[in-house]
Amino acid sequence: MASKLDFAHLPAPDGVNGWWESLPPAAPARTVTGEHAFDYVVVGGGITGLCAARRLAELAPDASVALVEADRIGRSTAGRNSGFFVDLPHDISSESYSRSVEADKADVRLQRHGIDYVRSIVKQHGIDCDWRDDGKYHASVNKKGHAALTHFAEGLARIGEACEWLDRSAIEKVTGTPFYESALFTPGCSTVQPAALMRGLAATQPANVTVFELSAVKGMDTGGAAKLLKFAGGSITTARVVLCTNAYAATFGGHPNGLLPVYTFASMSRPMNPDEIARLGGMQSWALIPADPMGTTVRRLANHRICIRNHFAFRPNLSVSDSDLAKSRQLHQRSFERRFPMLKDVELQYTWGGALCLSANNGALFGQREQGVFEAVGCNGLGLSRGSASGKLIAEYALGESHALIDQLLRQPHPRSLPMRPIADVAVTAAIWMKEFSAGAEL
Ligand SMILES: Cc1cc2nc3c(=O)[nH]c(=O)nc-3n(C[C@H](O)[C@H](O)[C@H](O)COP(=O)(O)OP(=O)(O)OC[C@H]3O[C@@H](n4cnc5c(N)ncnc54)[C@H](O)[C@@H]3O)c2cc1C
Repeated sequence: MASKLDFAHLPAPDGVNGWWESLPPAAPARTVTGEHAFDYVVVGGGITGLCAARRLAELAPDASVALVEADRIGRSTAGRNSGFFVDLPHDISSESYSRSVEADKADVRLQRHGIDYVRSIVKQHGIDCDWRDDGKYHASVNKKGHAALTHFAEGLARIGEACEWLDRSAIEKVTGTPFYESALFTPGCSTVQPAALMRGLAATQPANVTVFELSAVKGMDTGGAAKLLKFAGGSITTARVVLCTNAYAATFGGHPNGLLPVYTFASMSRPMNPDEIARLGGMQSWALIPADPMGTTVRRLANHRICIRNHFAFRPNLSVSDSDLAKSRQLHQRSFERRFPMLKDVELQYTWGGALCLSANNGALFGQREQGVFEAVGCNGLGLSRGSASGKLIAEYALGESHALIDQLLRQPHPRSLPMRPIADVAVTAAIWMKEFSAGAEL
């Protein structure tokens, strides 16, 4: 029986990605032109697709693998994030990141598996992406935030994970700002320059992987043994497809409407000059997550820039407007000024947005969607570590390998369906608005 997937919404340039802009110019892209045949095609060159293509090639060295990406690798979502490879529980729909003991332990196992895999590639190939195993700070600005951190610390104790409290002056010594009241340090988180990492992962793929960029799949005939993927300039025939398109999968058709494309936004400052660096003080590099998941994430980068992230918006059509970007920039500016009054002249140079793939029940899609079509979709806001693991493991699953974590991923709940649009639009937007309102001072 012939079946089709229509890729209704393709990635759009949502603002200007500061991580990408601060790298040297990229080498020219290889695009899909003419007709090709590969044994495997991985669709989506984010962290999930990059790990899936690599793992297929590692385990099947005689097979040919194509990795196809609509944008440049490193410029789209996986190269737009705040660069936290989070190892610990991080349910952003909860009020303190934690879930049940069993769910938290399962998350940690999976996330560490992903982090270890990517760290080993970075080390093996010497990928220059500012990889740091320096941990992260969860910081609160008031009593409510402190209570959320206490709850998080209790959750960590229940699963035997270490953390360390910092009082106001200790966290000020790290960040240079007196803004935060208290913080919890957790040592296992790694951080990166995400665009540099994605570029490096693409450039160091095994020899049997061909990477195509600026090559959006426009449609796919998946019914027979041979699948046909159509592009503006050509086509690829293959026996097996692995879909790693995260939020974009929400619009393919055939999926429950439980995948929620929710955008979040970031801004990056220009580099601080020596006088500004001295005025700020603190450590040269640090990574901070708000006590309330809807609050503001901040990183001080070794290149003397500050990167700030907040604000969420449900955008089922997978693009944001100029007014979304202008509003986000305004929010970022306000959050920056509240934290760094000593840096009045340091302007935000870049602002951008990127699509997360959330679901109401933290569900995700992993496995075989139909004969020869596999998928690893649904980062739930934590794509760097979860995507690394699920990309690696979907490749192993497609090749018939077994692993306890594959079983874990196959058992996870599917995204829970929501009411049809426009009711879903109103419900999701209202839920985000209420959570942002409640985050209050953490913004
Ligand atoms: C501002 C911001 C901050 C964030 N901070 C963090 C963080 O600190 N830590 C963390 O873990 N996560 C963070 N995230 C989320 C993280 O970026 C995502 O979870 C992650 O990118 C998911 O990886 P992925 O490979 O599964 O999907 P994606 O990165 O979305 O990759 C999917 C790829 O598929 C491509 N694609 C889509 N349709 C097609 C098509 N038809 N043809 C070809 N290619 C197609 C897209 O261009 C895209 O590159 C953040 C996100 C944003 C926007």
